[in-house]
This record gives sequence, C-alpha cells and structure tokens, in this order.
Amino acid sequence: MGNWVVNYWFSVLFLATWLGLNVFLFVHAFLSYEKADKYFYTREILGSALAWARASARCLNFNSMLILLPVCRNLLSFLRGTCSFCRHALRKQLDHNLAFHKLVAYMICLHTAIHIIAHLFNFEHYSRSRWATDGSLASILSTLSQQERDEDSWINPIQSPNMTVEYVTFTSIAGVTGVIITIALVLIVTSAMEFIRRSYFEVFWYTHHIFIIYFIGLGIHGIGGIVRGQTEESLNESHPHRCAEFLEQWDDHDSHCKHPRFEGLPAESWKWILAPGILYIFERILRFYRSKQKVVITKVVMHPSKVLELQMSKHGFIMEVGQYIFVNCPSISYLEWHPFTLTSAPEEDFFSIHIRAVGDWTENLIRAFEQQHSPIPRIEVDGPFGTVSEDVFQYEVAVLVGAGIGVTPFASILKSIWYKFRHADHNLKTQTAGHAALNFDKATDILTGLKQKTSFGRPMWDNEFSTIANAHPKSVVGVFLCGPQTLAKSLSKRCHQYSSLDPRKVQFYFNKEDF
Ligand SMILES: Cc1cc2nc3c(=O)[nH]c(=O)nc-3n(C[C@H](O)[C@H](O)[C@H](O)COP(=O)(O)OP(=O)(O)OC[C@H]3O[C@@H](n4cnc5c(N)ncnc54)[C@H](O)[C@@H]3O)c2cc1C
Repeated sequence: MGNWVVNYWFSVLFLATWLGLNVFLFVHAFLSYEKADKYFYTREILGSALAWARASARCLNFNSMLILLPVCRNLLSFLRGTCSFCRHALRKQLDHNLAFHKLVAYMICLHTAIHIIAHLFNFEHYSRSRWATDGSLASILSTLSQQERDEDSWINPIQSPNMTVEYVTFTSIAGVTGVIITIALVLIVTSAMEFIRRSYFEVFWYTHHIFIIYFIGLGIHGIGGIVRGQTEESLNESHPHRCAEFLEQWDDHDSHCKHPRFEGLPAESWKWILAPGILYIFERILRFYRSKQKVVITKVVMHPSKVLELQMSKHGFIMEVGQYIFVNCPSISYLEWHPFTLTSAPEEDFFSIHIRAVGDWTENLIRAFEQQHSPIPRIEVDGPFGTVSEDVFQYEVAVLVGAGIGVTPFASILKSIWYKFRHADHNLKTQTAGHAALNFDKATDILTGLKQKTSFGRPMWDNEFSTIANAHPKSVVGVFLCGPQTLAKSLSKRCHQYSSLDPRKVQFYFNKEDF
C-alpha cells in the first residue's frame, strides 16, 4: 500500500464524515417516521414506505444543500486564501471540488430513486385503502374526508373513488414539481456524462443550467403538505394508542376518543437550500461584475502550432502562480466562457494566456485575432481562480510535469521562480524545481517556440523518484501534474511508493490539475 495515507488521509476522513452524515440523517428520519405517534395513522395506510420516502427526502435536501458549494469558484478561492497557513492536506481538498460535486450528485440520484419508489408504493397504498371496504382502520381513515369537510379532517389525498393516482400526481404541487424535478435531474445527469462533456461541451453546459428549475421545484415541492400526520391537539385529545381500537366510537358524542385531526407536514427543502442558493447567486453576481471590467489587450503573439498568446491588463487584477481565468469573447459567443491558465508571473505588469486551437470556440478566437485588417475582438475576463499549482511554493522540492498544452500552469511558476531567485526572495521555501515536460508537439516547443524541446520522450519515473528521494531524504516533495489520466495514475502510484512511512523522512504529495 506504500504511503497511501500520506496523500489521502484527509480525503478519506472528509468522505467518511459526509457518508456518516448521510447515514445519520437517513436513519434518524427513518426511525422518527417509523416510531412517532404523530404518524401512527399515516403508517396504518402507508406502512414503512412513509419512512423510506421521508428519510430519502431528508438526505436529498442535505445533498442538494451541498451540491452548489463545490462549484462556487470564488468561495473556493477565498477559502484557499484564508487557509493558506493550513496544512496542505486541508487545502488539497479544495482541488477535489468537482469530484465531490459529482459524488454529491450521485447521492442525490440514489435518494431520488428511493424517494420516487417509496412514493409509488405510497400512492398504491393510498389508492388501495381508499377503495377497501373491509372495515380496516386504513380504509376508515381513508374515508374520513367524505364524512367531514374540514381542512384538518382528511389524511388520504385520494379523496373520492373517481380520483386516480395520475390525477393526484398532475394536480398537486408535490406531484407536478416531483415530475419536473425528476426530468430536470435526468437531463442534468445524462448530459454531464464524460462522453457528452468531452464531445459536446455546450450541450453539457447549457443543460446543466436546468439546475435552476431543479432548485425552484425542490423549494416548493413540499408546500402542498400531501403527506399528513396527526395534529398535536388531536394527539393529546385522542391518542392513537388509546383510541385506534375504538374507531367505531369516534362518532359518539360522549366518547373520549374523537375523530383524529390531521395536518400536512411543513415544507422543509427550502430551509436547506436557501443559504447555499443565496451564496451561489452572490457568486454569479460577482462573476458578472468582474467580467464587465475593462480588459486591455497589450500584446498578441501567434506561436507556431496554432497557439495564440494574449497579454492583457485589467484594473485591480492580482494573480498568483498556477491560477486560471475564464475568457469570453462576445463577438464569438455571448454565453460561452472558457478557462485558460495564466502563463505570466505575478511579478509581471501584465497577465497572459496561451490558447491552443482544439475546437470551434478556440479556432474562431484564433481566426479573429489573425485577421489583420479588422479591429481586435473585445475580451471579457473573470477570475483569477485558484488551482492546486498555487501551492507549489509551499514545498521544499517541487516536481512539475506538464504534457502538451498542460505545460501552461508551469510557465507561470517557472517564471516566478526565476524572478524570486533574481530578487533573492528569502521567503521562498522551494529549493529545487525538477521540470520534466512531456511535449507531444511535433514541430516546436509551445511556450518557447524553439525547435529545441524542453525534454524528449517519457522519463523513467522510478529513476526520477529514487534520485529525488535520495537527494532530499528529509524533504516534503510536491509533485504537480497537468496532463492525461494515465500519467496521473502512474505518478500517484510512485508518490505512494516512494514516500517514507516515517513522517520525518521524504514524503511525496501528488497534485493534479485537470484541463
Ligand atoms: C482549469 C483549466 C485550464 C485550462 N487552461 C488551458 C490553457 O492554458 N490553454 C489551452 O489551450 N487550454 C486550456 N484549457 C482547455 C480549454 O479550456 C479548452 O480547450 C477550450 O475551452 C476548448 O473550447 P472549444 O470550444 O474550442 O473546444 P471544444 O471542441 O468545445 O472542446 C474541446 C475540449 O475542451 C473542453 N471544453 C470546452 N469548453 C470548455 C469550457 N467552457 N470549460 C472547460 N472545458 C471546456 C471540452 O470538454 C473538450 O474536451 C484549460 C481547461 C481548464 C479546465
């Protein structure tokens, strides 16, 4: 297992806490609905399906509360800044934001499935007990609405024999919003599959914004109060343990057991999603505000292999190494924002990006900048946002591995190291930067434009790691990769393998940036 714990102990702890909270919320809600006297009569009709529906709803709310947080880029950047003194194990969690976002989404899907199945059973039970004529408690409870017209007299939403399950589904708030939320969720999840994201990014991006409908639907889903329980006064007046057996006396005036009274369960979802919803709205407002600030393009360089370099300046723009920005070009598309890593160093008086042509948007942008006689297109910039590479100076020894256009995050770092060495920055912890760039570009080096590549071929990782481990036997080594998943696996494995079990000896920390 090597020293797996060094790299992953905090992730495991974090995930265990999240899973633990899910289990706790589920079990707690399940037992409450399975045991509480308030739902004695409801359980009589619905059985355990009531508890399954409510427990999954509780977990759905909890995970819907969490799902927006990992995609609040500004919040993450803020946290990264405020916990710059925290251990990197803690800060590293911020780089798993999208992985966590996906896990939470899977959990939402799981609980949605449980919730829907439980409610199908519930409808079936409501329907059956409404039609039953066997004189059972469930059937008598289901006819209560016929005898009394008060709002608190009924428990079964199927109130007349003509009412079908479909009718209740499409005429109740809970039913209609439930159908809408489910369709929204299916669209969001299916369009976020790896294949769609890689091949039709716009389809994924626009469909993902259906999340707005999902949240509105979820917020109002419970306000109809279709699932009902006995009111507190009614419980005090005629407790089910005392009165359930004497249902034939409920109508007697001199009986101690009156007709039970019911109320809809109060809507809960909105309470869970309100705070993250407001936070996310602030996030979008901030993104919009920053994107509207003027950007001046100071230099345009066309590198070989269709790589465009844009040097820009913007009032109040402060960057760190390894950060990225989102770029919009209104003349190409008003809505599309594309992320690009900053290749300039914080010490420079401009910020730059290198854009490689890979698809429609990047090709159109490069074409627009290549046209000599037309004015330079207007660019909007949002950011900068932090990435894992920001932590590079936290390590005594750093190994930077970039493949293809993945060398861009490291351009900024290497430049900055150069500036820091030049100005004899005594705060610089990093003593060594091993640079093993895998350059797949055939003709020239993307960043330097020189025929001479930084290095050729695949490094012998075992040799590289054992050399570093021998040279720095007591150091904390940060390994940074921006490249393909296969390489990530290989480097992550070496990091575990070459880290010492003794925390005072060499430790390799693996950090990956995704493009
Ligand atoms: C954090 C980060 C930093 C990046 N830095 C650089 C860089 O320095 N230089 C560089 O050339 N490229 C970089 N990229 C990749 C760059 O964003 C995509 O190449 C670009 O968005 C492709 O757009 P397209 O419409 O031309 O291509 P498409 O054909 O639409 O897409 C090609 C690939 O890019 C991905 N992609 C498309 N649109 C987006 C988007 N809005 N957000 C995220 N991914 C998208 C798709 O999943 C697909 O795999 C970075 C990506 C990320 C996530």
